[in-house]
Amino acid sequence: MPPVAKPSSTHYDMVVIGGGSGAMGVSRRAAAYGKKVCVIEEDGRLGGTCVNVGCVPKKLMWHAADMAEHLKEAPEYGFGDVVNKPKVPGFSWNYFAEKRDAYVRRLNGIYDKNLDKDGVEYFSGHGKLTGKNEVEVTMRGEDGSFNAGTYKVTGDRVVIATGGRPIIPSDDKIPGASLGINSDGFFELKEQPKRVVVVGAGYIAVELAGVFNTLGSETHLLIRHDTFLRPFDPIISETLQDYMSKTGLNVHKQTNITKVEGTKGGPLTIHTDKGDPIEADCLLWAIGRRPNTDNLGLETAGVELDKAGNIVVDKYQETNVPNVFAIGDIQGKALLTPVAIAAGRKLSNRLYSNHPSLKDDHMDYDNIPTVIFSHPTSGTVGLSESEAVEKYGKDNVTTHTSKFTSMYYGMLEHKAPSAFKMVVGPEERVVGLHIVGLGADEMLQGFAVAVKMGAKVKDFQETCAIHPTSSEEVVTMVPTTKKA
Ligand SMILES: Cc1cc2nc3c(=O)[nH]c(=O)nc-3n(C[C@H](O)[C@H](O)[C@H](O)COP(=O)(O)OP(=O)(O)OC[C@H]3O[C@@H](n4cnc5c(N)ncnc54)[C@H](O)[C@@H]3O)c2cc1C
Repeated sequence: MPPVAKPSSTHYDMVVIGGGSGAMGVSRRAAAYGKKVCVIEEDGRLGGTCVNVGCVPKKLMWHAADMAEHLKEAPEYGFGDVVNKPKVPGFSWNYFAEKRDAYVRRLNGIYDKNLDKDGVEYFSGHGKLTGKNEVEVTMRGEDGSFNAGTYKVTGDRVVIATGGRPIIPSDDKIPGASLGINSDGFFELKEQPKRVVVVGAGYIAVELAGVFNTLGSETHLLIRHDTFLRPFDPIISETLQDYMSKTGLNVHKQTNITKVEGTKGGPLTIHTDKGDPIEADCLLWAIGRRPNTDNLGLETAGVELDKAGNIVVDKYQETNVPNVFAIGDIQGKALLTPVAIAAGRKLSNRLYSNHPSLKDDHMDYDNIPTVIFSHPTSGTVGLSESEAVEKYGKDNVTTHTSKFTSMYYGMLEHKAPSAFKMVVGPEERVVGLHIVGLGADEMLQGFAVAVKMGAKVKDFQETCAIHPTSSEEVVTMVPTTKKA
């Protein structure tokens, strides 16, 4: 069902501002408990960052890049002309982007239907707090502008789930910076740029640079320090950086852009503080995100923000204003879709369920697993080695590591690495697991359950291996290879 033109009521049990992952989790669960709920989304489509300009279209692009790798490898597995190894067919970016966007539109429709099915009212417009429990909705017109009138609704509970957006440096700071695009712009590209500069060292920068590089664009990744993915355990950052550099990704260490010349969408000359200018067809900034708190009325309601502009919440996602909650990226912790969804569902469980087991339900921000859709993929759960040492002391931490080549590459000249590290803390508990290699993305979820349950090394070792797989290494790694 498309958004409703007019609210059915002026008062709701729960009013949710935002229509992304967190909003879906909290609103649908509240409605499942029979509550009257409305969701306000300003973008004109539901699903938020994840569905529209994040996880979903990004993963599809990763699949396309992965396909390019397999096509390259196919002759060595006996397909096609095994002697002359034909050139991999060209990738039609435009064709695929249209197909990808159609898939996203289908998901938008499914989200509409799900809200309708659950009885959650969806208002298309901008939401703004005008009091502690009052929200003004400025309706979005058919042309996308916010000209369709305003109305006010009140809620016993108000949930802010407005997420964040990518940042770009100002032209004052870096002349010409606005000639570049951000991760949202990546999904607007109609053609594959031949030469790309990606700026940033976080997972989004690495993933998007990986897609460009694997699909054959000349790709430069500019990072401020010596390694990308620095918050991750070095087994991930070092293995990936070393390997991706060997596959043609040009990693420029300790490099900052000083000036950009050219025209938007046309060729650019990118000047840096190190080396010659780089000529590129696309400059992509992936240098971070900022919370969507503009024109949200937080001051009116008296909602507290931290220094970075994120909404401060307690462990129950409640802000300093009673009955005003914040979930997902807007609260600045663990910016991931499943976190936003789970925090939302748990909030509604706690508020509305009569079941005693859910009376204290809240999101636990420890041991959240996450994957980087790099080439090869990598994943992490729990503490890195240095975090474990900081938490438990050097003498109480050991690591088990394994570096090997997956059997898949046994048939290929070119070999991607696999590298695993298990971090073991007091009482021989596995407090961190960090893996890079073929299949790491699908491998991690099950092991994350074990880590979350507080499994000990012995539990891993007593679990029978599945052969022949890469994941069997996790349960057969040589114990205590090194004192941290
Ligand atoms: C390129 C990229 C790749 C990513 N890949 C992954 C991944 O692989 N796995 C993963 O788990 N996470 C990934 N993420 C992160 C994930 O997308 C976010 O953590 C998640 O979407 C956060 O959900 P949210 O509900 O907090 O916010 P969002 O999904 O951003 O939703 C917020 C919504 O609120 C709306 N809004 C804002 N202000 C207002 C207002 N005042 N009134 C009405 N509506 C408003 C916005 O339009 C938006 O639709 C990725 C992010 C990016 C950018």
